[in-house]
Amino acid sequence: MLTGLQVAVLGGDARQLEIIRKLTELDAKVYLVGFDQLEQSFAGAVKEKLEELPFHELDALILPVAGLQPTGEIETVFSSAHPQLTKTMLSKTPDHCLLFTGISPPVLTKLAEQAGRTLIRLFDRDDVAIYNSIPTAEGAVMMAIQHTDFTIHGSSVAVLGMGRVGMSVARTFANLGANVKLGARKSEHLARAIEMGLTPFSIDQLPQQAESLDLIINTIPSLVITSQAIAKMKPHVFIIDLASKPGGTDFQFAKKRGIKAILALGLPGIVAPKTAGQILAGVITDLLKDAAITKGE
Ligand code: NAP
Repeated sequence: MLTGLQVAVLGGDARQLEIIRKLTELDAKVYLVGFDQLEQSFAGAVKEKLEELPFHELDALILPVAGLQPTGEIETVFSSAHPQLTKTMLSKTPDHCLLFTGISPPVLTKLAEQAGRTLIRLFDRDDVAIYNSIPTAEGAVMMAIQHTDFTIHGSSVAVLGMGRVGMSVARTFANLGANVKLGARKSEHLARAIEMGLTPFSIDQLPQQAESLDLIINTIPSLVITSQAIAKMKPHVFIIDLASKPGGTDFQFAKKRGIKAILALGLPGIVAPKTAGQILAGVITDLLKDAAITKGE
């Protein structure tokens, strides 16, 4: 239980509702900032204005998964207000106060550093990345179905990258009956591909593989789908680029060649906000339970 802990949830999207639900179920006292248009209510949660929060009593602040806007504003889909988190506000919190975010843009990293507060980047954690790879893979399937006129089953699919997302995506498409080739640079990743029943290839050989492919799913956050590779692709190829901005595709060249390529970001929050919220809620509450134990010592 989180009895006695005080947590402020600052803005965000539908994923935050699962976090609020879990926090209140575990008996934390929850303050909601930027939720004035939310009709749903949670026992144990009160709506509050940012400047009226009891900062000196807070054990944790939970920010949107994107952290803060470059201006320091907190983005929220449940309000038209644009609350602004400042260093003065953060400095009022107790030293042990934890700051949760998905990713940390420079403005947030700087703010946390200046206030001397611990910033927990949830998307950097292996457990969160692996859990999130499940809705990401399902989102990739959704995109493949929406944007092609052929079945995944029997098609020739290249998955680029054998990290947390690449592995889940490759397995999902192989389970749907695609002939999956896995492009990576490390020999252990190529070995893993063989163990999974996939066809491995060295990523620098993509131009040689390109002609045989129907669908390409990239998870490598570096330019790997180059103009040389795109020039060899068949016109019906569809590229789903999952890697963080700016992706790993030469989008300009793809457009020039008439190859459909989409940078598909934030799929967990789009295809499964409830699950994506539950993933974050589980990790946040586990970390708060540990923090509560430490606080009680
Ligand atoms: P990860 O576990 O770090 O995997 C990244 C993979 O890329 C690793 O296998 C890495 O291999 C490879 N790689 C990196 N640079 C490379 C290069 N220059 N050449 C060849 N391979 C390279 O990351 P992840 O969790 O799978 O996430 C992958 C990307 O997807 C990230 O950008 C993440 O932000 C994004 N993502 C997107 C969504 C979405 O909805 N679109 C959801 C979740 C994550 P090495 O070990 O050889 O470096």
